[in-house]
Amino acid sequence: MSDRTTATGAVPPHDLAVVGTGVVGALTAYYAVRRDPGLRVLLLTHDARGTGATRLSAGFDTPTGHSAAQRVLAARSTALFAGLAAELPDVQRAPVDAYWLVGRDNRAALDASMADGGRTSAVDPDRREMLAGTFPGLTHGDDEVLLASAPMTAGRPQWLTDQLLDRVLSRPGSTLLEGFRVTAMRRAGSRIELVAADGSRVTADKAAVAPGPWALAGPVAEAARDRGARVKKVVAFHIMSPPPPGAPALVFEDADAFLLPHHPGGHWIFSITSPDWDRGPDEPLVIDARDRSLARKLLARHVPGFLPYLLGGRVFSDCFTPGHVPVVGTADDDAVVMAIGGSGSGYRLAPAMAEDTLDLLYGRTR
Ligand SMILES: Cc1cc2nc3c(=O)[nH]c(=O)nc-3n(C[C@H](O)[C@H](O)[C@H](O)COP(=O)(O)OP(=O)(O)OC[C@H]3O[C@@H](n4cnc5c(N)ncnc54)[C@H](O)[C@@H]3O)c2cc1C
Repeated sequence: MSDRTTATGAVPPHDLAVVGTGVVGALTAYYAVRRDPGLRVLLLTHDARGTGATRLSAGFDTPTGHSAAQRVLAARSTALFAGLAAELPDVQRAPVDAYWLVGRDNRAALDASMADGGRTSAVDPDRREMLAGTFPGLTHGDDEVLLASAPMTAGRPQWLTDQLLDRVLSRPGSTLLEGFRVTAMRRAGSRIELVAADGSRVTADKAAVAPGPWALAGPVAEAARDRGARVKKVVAFHIMSPPPPGAPALVFEDADAFLLPHHPGGHWIFSITSPDWDRGPDEPLVIDARDRSLARKLLARHVPGFLPYLLGGRVFSDCFTPGHVPVVGTADDDAVVMAIGGSGSGYRLAPAMAEDTLDLLYGRTR
């Protein structure tokens, strides 16, 4: 089929279409042009650039994993983030000291989850005093223990994503189409045709689909469902009390929750695990009474002094895959690869997801 019949409007066929301009799509596009500077990349987003889970992400990077697969992705992503820090003038990732509250019986499992093979250590009395000053009323049961680990990292996912997209789009041959909601993808001769909700069409030799929480509503929905993908609400409250300079993070390991200083906002981020499954990004998502009750219970148990400051926060949806291990796989055609299942950790695992996507598309083995 000729180019003329498969592309509409002024957009010529591209080498690679990337559906999604969140952190996974942006990294995929960035690594693609870094591998092949002449590659013509077409970026597609269903709404304005900057819409999606990435915009609301807390940006906490704990290089941990509860399975070997997660740990491998986490360790690779840590190395790739270090590479990005060397390439970009200001990658906006800062180390943050990390402390962990965990049931005594779960300490060994926590140590085993560290992707770098590090171990937690006991908190000495001086540091305990510092923590009590930072987390007002800090307390825990006799069956729990407070531990320190190597510093973790706090980043700014949307800032990073914007830097990456700007770099890709500054190259001749790269194009961004906003408001282009891909509803179907099909083979058209040697190319992949991507059809938008309004019927417009573009083509590319290959396509990477990084739809975040829209995984079940777009062109890879069936393939995503086949791989066990679901969507869930993700909630991070704000604690409207300014964190002191150098404030550490506190992870409530058994509750899958954390307190992270957010200095630009002048408040803490208190991420909890919302139980609201099957909540997609196109429905109204709010922080509701059930989320608040969960958050209040956890604070009342461990940091009661923060209770009066629990006000507002961030809420969106994310795509979760079995075992919370992201899925990178072909969808119906070898030239179409989806990268889904950030599972609430899609920022910290995004570099490895992007690398795997390109490896699969371009036949590289690791
Ligand atoms: C409140 C909150 C806090 C979080 N905190 C952390 C954290 O501390 N650490 C961490 O690692 N992770 C965290 N996450 C998870 C992380 O933010 C996500 O996993 C990650 O941002 C997903 O990135 P993505 O690029 O896959 O998706 P998104 O950022 O959602 O981007 C999806 C893109 O796909 C496009 N798209 C989708 N469907 C179509 C279509 N059919 N046609 C065209 N375009 C389409 C959208 O327009 C968008 O550009 C958090 C998430 C939330 C909501």
